[in-house]
Amino acid sequence: AKKSGRNQYIYYEDLTSASSYRDLLELENDLNFALQNKEFELYYQPIYSGSEREMVGVEALLRWNHPTNGQISPTRFVPVAEEMGLMPSIGLWILEAAIDQANKWYQKGLIGFVSINISKTQMKDSSFIDKLDQLIKKYPFMPPMIHFEITESDITHYVREVVAFAKELKKRKVKIALDDFGVGTSSLLYLKELPIDVIKIDRNFIKNVPEDHYDSVLLAGILKITKELNLEVIIEGIESPEQIEYITSRSDAKLQGYYFSKPKPAYELEKTLRLE
Ligand code: C2E
Ligand code: MG
Ligand code: MG
Ligand code: MG
Repeated sequence: AKKSGRNQYIYYEDLTSASSYRDLLELENDLNFALQNKEFELYYQPIYSGSEREMVGVEALLRWNHPTNGQISPTRFVPVAEEMGLMPSIGLWILEAAIDQANKWYQKGLIGFVSINISKTQMKDSSFIDKLDQLIKKYPFMPPMIHFEITESDITHYVREVVAFAKELKKRKVKIALDDFGVGTSSLLYLKELPIDVIKIDRNFIKNVPEDHYDSVLLAGILKITKELNLEVIIEGIESPEQIEYITSRSDAKLQGYYFSKPKPAYELEKTLRLE
């Protein structure tokens, strides 16, 4: 894949190879009804502290349970929903579902924060902020526990909108995470322009660590910079104890990945949390 515009690349790859034009039309048609048919579900993937290996939060990840084709990956349907103008309304559902769930877990003492992905068209949707305000009114203690993940490659094309949106969010005292850090262009520049609290380092930076010398040095460098800048760091895609060792000996970054847990439905995750 090209280094820049990774999301676009995946999108067009889906259009041309992974699915035929007819499949795409069917997907679009079905997407129109998915929300009202309650076919969306949130899965949750735990995030751990590097030091105590304690669960500190969860990331909410969207799933589409298609009535005949089974579960469809968000990498496949989110870009299509985005193009169709459906993401603002799907996003409102995600926001409410994730925050209601976080409240339930918080009341049981089970989690710290919930991290919610936001796509680019949601940032121009004023009903998003309205919905957030309603939810904050319902759960006034919640804002510091909410992380909103903004994807780096979305920022490139919408710098001004993203900056304005991020400022609105910061007024509500929620945290902002820069997702897929390092995949887009001018990553370091965004650190200056946006009120970012958390950096989520993309799996591409970790997958060959520690075997690959170049990748390992690059990751160590990023960890050093983010430490100097006092940024909270979450590393995505942790799959081995060697990766954990490499990271925790160099930083206090938080860890997320299949090594700990795949994303799971709320009730399944809750079962494992109660056992911890
Ligand atoms: P993301 O936000 O970067 O989410 C991380 C993705 O990495 C998730 O894929 C997660 O399941 C996967 N992952 C986590 N740990 C590992 C690991 O150890 N190894 C590997 N190979 N993968 C790992 P998922 O759930 O398929 O989501 C893919 C992307 O779809 C997300 O990337 C995000 O860009 C988008 N997406 C998912 N849910 C939402 C949502 O609610 N809203 C929006 N706007 N986008 C979403
Ligand atoms: Mg994310
Ligand atoms: Mg994301
Ligand atoms: Mg990511």
